[in-house]
Amino acid sequence: MNDHVASGPVADEADVIVVGAGPGGSAAAYHLARHGVRVLLLEKTEFPREKVCGDGLTPRAVRQLIRMGIDTSEKAGWLQNRGLRVIGGGVRLELDWPELASFPNYGLVRTRMDFDDMLARRAVEAGALLRTGVNVTGPVQNDDGYVIGVEAKVGPGREPAQFRAPLVITADGVSGKFPLALGLTKRDDRPLGVAVRRYYHSAVKADDDYLESWLELRSAQDPARLLPGYGWIFGLGDGRVNVGLGILNSSDAFGKTNYRHLLTDWLGSTPAEWGLRDEANADGPTLGAALPMGFNRVPHYTRGVLLVGDSGGMVNPMNGEGIAYAMESGEMAAEVAVQALARPFGPERERALQAYPAELSLRFGGYYRIGGIFVKLIGNPQIMRLATKYGMPQPLLMKFVLKLLANLTDPRGGDAMDRIINGLTKVAPSA
Ligand SMILES: Cc1cc2nc3c(=O)[nH]c(=O)nc-3n(C[C@H](O)[C@H](O)[C@H](O)COP(=O)(O)OP(=O)(O)OC[C@H]3O[C@@H](n4cnc5c(N)ncnc54)[C@H](O)[C@@H]3O)c2cc1C
Repeated sequence: MNDHVASGPVADEADVIVVGAGPGGSAAAYHLARHGVRVLLLEKTEFPREKVCGDGLTPRAVRQLIRMGIDTSEKAGWLQNRGLRVIGGGVRLELDWPELASFPNYGLVRTRMDFDDMLARRAVEAGALLRTGVNVTGPVQNDDGYVIGVEAKVGPGREPAQFRAPLVITADGVSGKFPLALGLTKRDDRPLGVAVRRYYHSAVKADDDYLESWLELRSAQDPARLLPGYGWIFGLGDGRVNVGLGILNSSDAFGKTNYRHLLTDWLGSTPAEWGLRDEANADGPTLGAALPMGFNRVPHYTRGVLLVGDSGGMVNPMNGEGIAYAMESGEMAAEVAVQALARPFGPERERALQAYPAELSLRFGGYYRIGGIFVKLIGNPQIMRLATKYGMPQPLLMKFVLKLLANLTDPRGGDAMDRIINGLTKVAPSA
């Protein structure tokens, strides 16, 4: 057990229980604790632990780190990046993150082994009580079906336990077992991705100051062949890179491909000096997981439970980014919970809690709907080939595309591109 994890006699009741201490859960717990709310953060694993991810953080995620009081300077050991390098259609374009009032102009890369531990620590420093080794198995409900706590199996002995709170925030990731236990299944009309990643030692690519994104993947076995999916190479600054690829369910290859072989085949086509062709440079196995996108689980509030991050299907369909959205929804859920707890149980409190899905839909609903259309379009290889061929050589257009895909605009007083993107997301239906 870590030094930042609760030990000794254990509180079994709180104002809010947060299920899962990934970025979404830790952000929610931090913002609740900052308001003086008694929060119990329950996590089934022990920190530090691995989580399958690309480890890339855009300025949107950096803003959330800053809101949690985390020093993201290079002095504090972070590797900052300046933007995105996009490779495709025979073009290699370096696009700097936009200069905006609302977001910093740099991104970061950090392994989740480190990152999630750090966020959980911040929540504890703010006053949250973290308990690891607690596997939440389902809700405790009153006679009206309202959730008043959680059932769990605790520690290596898996002893049964119950924790009580008038509100529960579920941030249990893509598996979403907690919302599932309440009957909230995944929506099939929303995009879904699958991605795999692997670490490699690479002296050449480890200290990159751009996040590298590949729109076209070539097969080493058959260089004339384009492989399905999109790839990334993110330098970690510690001699290693995080390399991976993702496929969307709008692609014909979705579910019919061996993603591990696909990764090896693509990496076989990269320059030998990068070291990514060589099994001896690999650090650990290729691991994968699903990316639940575009609000693929709703409602985001029901019966005393607020859904945060992957649990509520909040990965951005346009770029596969999920950390920023988990942290942002965690903060939004915390703010709403604080207001709700100040009201008596009943209709008044319910009214306050309904603000959470309403806010989410206002902030991301229209954008995600456009994302859904985007995913369908790029699922067609012909459209993708044309877009890459004719779009990539247009720097101004690509600047716009970067803002759109990374969801980086100023809501007020931005430039013409910001106004177009904000206008589009406002007119798109948000449900
Ligand atoms: C291969 C891959 C690459 C990706 N690359 C990126 C990227 O580069 N950048 C990016 O922003 N996003 C990326 N994503 C998406 C990102 O990983 C997720 O969107 C993000 O982790 C969501 O955070 P979360 O807090 O909602 O859930 P998670 O990070 O999944 O955290 C959930 C937590 O809940 C715990 N938990 C689960 N069930 C229980 C239970 N029953 N009881 C107690 N605890 C429980 C888990 O142990 C975990 O700690 C990638 C995803 C994949 C699969």
